[in-house]
Amino acid sequence: MKLKTKLIHGGIDGDEHTGAVSVPIYQVSTYKQDAIGQHRGFEYSRTGNPTRHACEALIAEIEGGTRGFAFGSGMAAISAIVMLFKAGDHFIVGDDVYGGTYRVLSHVFDRFGIEVTYVNTSHLADIEAAIQDNTKAVFLETPSNPLLKVSDIPAVADLCKDKGLMLIVDNTFMTPYWQNPLQLGADIVTHSATKYLGGHSDVVAGLAVVKDEELGEQLHHVQNSVGGVLGPQDSWILIRGIKTLGIRMQEHEENTRQIVDFLTKRDDVKAVFYPGLKDHPGHDIQTKQSRGFGGMLSFDVGSGERAEQVLSRVKYFTLAESLGAVESLISVPAKMTHASIPAERRAELGISDGLVRISVGLEDIEDLIEDLTQALEG
Ligand SMILES: *Cc1c(COP(=O)(O)O)cnc(C)c1O
Repeated sequence: MKLKTKLIHGGIDGDEHTGAVSVPIYQVSTYKQDAIGQHRGFEYSRTGNPTRHACEALIAEIEGGTRGFAFGSGMAAISAIVMLFKAGDHFIVGDDVYGGTYRVLSHVFDRFGIEVTYVNTSHLADIEAAIQDNTKAVFLETPSNPLLKVSDIPAVADLCKDKGLMLIVDNTFMTPYWQNPLQLGADIVTHSATKYLGGHSDVVAGLAVVKDEELGEQLHHVQNSVGGVLGPQDSWILIRGIKTLGIRMQEHEENTRQIVDFLTKRDDVKAVFYPGLKDHPGHDIQTKQSRGFGGMLSFDVGSGERAEQVLSRVKYFTLAESLGAVESLISVPAKMTHASIPAERRAELGISDGLVRISVGLEDIEDLIEDLTQALEG
């Protein structure tokens, strides 16, 4: 089965009892046992629910893993992954990972003895230099936010194999439509399904997929023990979202390509960050490890004041955090998603005050470009 077919028919397709073409929503907590200890695959919905199971089977199949897990948010998925480890274990984490990932590692799991070093994961040597005796895992996002820095997944995977570390990749920006980290050597792939997989700004959900069956058992043990599971209604919404992932990602990318073309031609835009640009630092690696470049881009309009002007003038771009939905969203990282990072550190990371981030939606491209034109020209 090819990927676009898998998105629609993968996992568990419809309902064999009634012929319903969509998986039913099993709004249920417990299941009748035929005799003591004899159940039909489901006992209690924290442990397993048929609608969630269909969602989990689907994400496992489209990421090319053996087992998938659905959680109540991306952060719940990431937290469950961290709970595979123990006090005294050390993680090497990308220095530009999602703010919530930084927060949970540095301000929650620090209390449980998880140690973290943040490095630029685009530089293999920086990862290698950060390895300690107690290092157990590398966690990265690629391309990252907001400068779309690319990390070489197969190269990091080789290093991890060599050093006996687990590689965890947050694949939220690319989605399994464009990039499959497990195929590239990662051990665990995770998603904020709130973004492209759900795709319509209507659900908060997280996913994790593993290749190794034993690791799958361990992650199920955590999921069932800690209990941050995705409910049946949201599992169904997510399955519905994933069915259109292919056409949405293609259209997101086509719109993005045209906006990038438009922005790179303008003198009043200082820089454009998009992995699809030939002069983007990670372009070659991105081309090797992914089938596309995605729908996220950033551009520098020169100053914080100018960025604020642009944001106050746009009509079709919604001023909001988050990404990956049908609606185009616009934000200023220095004042929004990355505001908690000290100005000096932001400058080191290259996140200037004039940087504007766009999650390109599925509106008509002529409207989007017209809107950006008037917002830039005032
Ligand atoms: C949003 C996001 C998360 C967190 O997901 P939630 O669903 O908001 O909990 C994690 N990683 C990345 C890259 C994200 O964009």
